[in-house]
Amino acid sequence: MIERIEELKEEVQKFVAEKEADLESFRMKFVSRKSVLTDLFDAFKDVPPAQKKDYGVALNQLKVLVQDRFKEMVSGLEESKGATTETKDLTLPAATDQIGGIHPLTALRARIIEIFERIGFSVADGPEIETDWYNFTALNFPENHPAREMQDTFFIEKNPDVLLRTHTSSVQVRLMESGKPPFRAIMPGRVFRNEAITARAHCIFHQVEGLYIDEGVSFADLKDTLYHFAKEMFHKDVKIRFRPSYFPFTEPSAEIDISCLICNGEGCNICKYTGWVEIAGSGMVDPNVLENCGIDSEKYTGFAFGMGIERMALLKYQVRDLRLFTENDVRFLKQFSSIL
Ligand SMILES: [Zn+2]
Repeated sequence: MIERIEELKEEVQKFVAEKEADLESFRMKFVSRKSVLTDLFDAFKDVPPAQKKDYGVALNQLKVLVQDRFKEMVSGLEESKGATTETKDLTLPAATDQIGGIHPLTALRARIIEIFERIGFSVADGPEIETDWYNFTALNFPENHPAREMQDTFFIEKNPDVLLRTHTSSVQVRLMESGKPPFRAIMPGRVFRNEAITARAHCIFHQVEGLYIDEGVSFADLKDTLYHFAKEMFHKDVKIRFRPSYFPFTEPSAEIDISCLICNGEGCNICKYTGWVEIAGSGMVDPNVLENCGIDSEKYTGFAFGMGIERMALLKYQVRDLRLFTENDVRFLKQFSSIL
């Protein structure tokens, strides 16, 4: 008899209820009034007195085991039922994918190209790794001239020098060498300088330069072109001024300021209380540069200008730190989704 109880204990322990029907058959066999347990209790009176104690203990252990297992199986089935209903809720909205956007600098470059294309400028491109000739010498930077010091860069080889271009003016030289005037193009691209990375400077940034060479091009054309650009890019009421400056490749040269968009020229910390902010450098192409590129400087004249795309973005979108443009922080980039 005791052996029979031990067998039943083992069966109860191994029992698995995967569905309601399993639970019901367990209940019929071990829990109900007609269960084996009832029969065993009934048989107690026929057990010889000497075995009554052991029999009683074993039977009670079986009873407790049956009750515990039954409770476990009931709650186990209820839990899995709950889980199934949740995953099958078809009324829940679908999870959405994150959709990326165009980088603010790319968007701004596209806007600059659009403005100049409408007044007849094409887009020229060139390599980022340049020789000394295209980056410096052809542009009238004499060797050992301090102007080279201001544009220190990363060298790939020395003597002869191969380097990362410090401006897109190298593309101007390549353009002028490639054919005959007239030339009217802008050169957007990535440029490099050996500078410490701070909120206002970076070793990698983007420029757009422009070049217009033809017979009879004058400083008035330069002024009008850039005035048109500033009005299109910033505001129709923006004021523009030219400040005399020095660049090796232009003569005369001027830096271009626009009236501060924040304070309308009254003075604030963005414009350092001058009412003006610088946006570009420009000038009439130096005759030496024209001759270096095989163009008759007696017959042709032209102007060139250059501006930083990051600088433009700082002004247009009031960004205080240009490192943000290269950090790829989605919280920053998301704020520009509406400008596209
Ligand atoms: Zn201001």
